[in-house]
Amino acid sequence: MKITKWAGRKFSGRVFAALALAAAVLVSGAAAQKRIRDLKPTVILISLDGFRYDYPDKFDTPTLKRLARTGVRAKWMIPSFPTKTFPNHYTIATGLYPEHHGIVDNNVWDAGKMFSIGNREAVGDPRWWLGEPIWVTAQRQGQIAASYFYVGSEAPVKGMHPKYWKTYNGSVPPQMRVDGVLSWLDLPVDERPTIITMYFSDTDDAGHEFGPDAEETRYAALNDDDYIARLLRGLALRGIADKVNIIVVSDHGMAAVDIRKAAFIDDYIDIANDTDRILYTHEINQIFPKPGKVDEVYSRLKKMPFATCWKKGELPERLHYNDGERVAPIVCSTEIGHIVTTHSRYANYVKDISDPERPRGGHGHDNRYPEMRALFIAHGPAFKRGFVAEPFANIEVYNVMCKILGLKPAPNDGDLRHVRSMLRK
Ligand SMILES: [Zn+2]
Repeated sequence: MKITKWAGRKFSGRVFAALALAAAVLVSGAAAQKRIRDLKPTVILISLDGFRYDYPDKFDTPTLKRLARTGVRAKWMIPSFPTKTFPNHYTIATGLYPEHHGIVDNNVWDAGKMFSIGNREAVGDPRWWLGEPIWVTAQRQGQIAASYFYVGSEAPVKGMHPKYWKTYNGSVPPQMRVDGVLSWLDLPVDERPTIITMYFSDTDDAGHEFGPDAEETRYAALNDDDYIARLLRGLALRGIADKVNIIVVSDHGMAAVDIRKAAFIDDYIDIANDTDRILYTHEINQIFPKPGKVDEVYSRLKKMPFATCWKKGELPERLHYNDGERVAPIVCSTEIGHIVTTHSRYANYVKDISDPERPRGGHGHDNRYPEMRALFIAHGPAFKRGFVAEPFANIEVYNVMCKILGLKPAPNDGDLRHVRSMLRK
């Protein structure tokens, strides 16, 4: 689909900036806004779910482009496998591959217990969350952390939440999240967080429904861009726009999918007789064969189109997915543009879809696909200006945050030497 230019661009940059400032004054009561003069090294980590690495250019998002121009932008960030939301958010927070932090998929099976992203009890249960997220590292070393939504913050990992945190509710308006973060910065210095995480889902929601090339997804990307602009205005009013380090990341990209191009697991195996369970998504399926049936199930699934299946321990090393105890005995990764499911799940999925020929979006595939690439843009006193970084894996973000905050990192899979060139001396 051809993307037409946004009509609003007819405003010149200067007029737009003046309007934005006027709006900020009206909204925030600038006259009364106290300036912050005792800020410690501070990081705000902003996650834009499903914001593909190329969206700033593809959709011409002004704020993100300005941050990149005056800060650091990676050509792209390499998501971890599987390119799903929960594994990648927690990788960014911990510097660990999913095989090491335990959230190996959006659904996880372990020792008779089931984790899934919609299960509030599991999400808040620390048994699932291994490793040490940045907010725990910060608080164990005497700093204060805050989170206006971030994967993992709802469980007391190593016994603690961020000092300020929220139970996830996707209906909380994004502008309210921004203002909540600003209000934390207004706290006295001994109560003010130095590491703040926040999360927006607009581009993932639109990307799934309409695909990465849709006009609807462009509007969603511009929404995300506006939330960041609101945050920057709030920082400017406090006199700290150039003092806070802002790191904007996404967890994964988005690929166009034609849902009519489906393969069906139950055309190749007898699910009830051959397996104990399958953890399904369209893009990755974790298969637990009945005892003694791994080889038989594997040899039959290898005949399935639109997917590559591996036995545990035989995945390519580049995927870093052989170590984890929670990885299924057989993992099937779907080719881009397709879905893999069962006949009954497919019938249930398409029953309310009136236009199956319309492109939709998906992610969770092999991270070698360009469509899965993630965003990394960073800005602030710790970062070089106008620096374009070579692609790096998302395990590296944790060490960058530790370095800026003066924290000793917990053991992790990253290596600061891979990304140190983006930091000022
Ligand atoms: Zn996501």
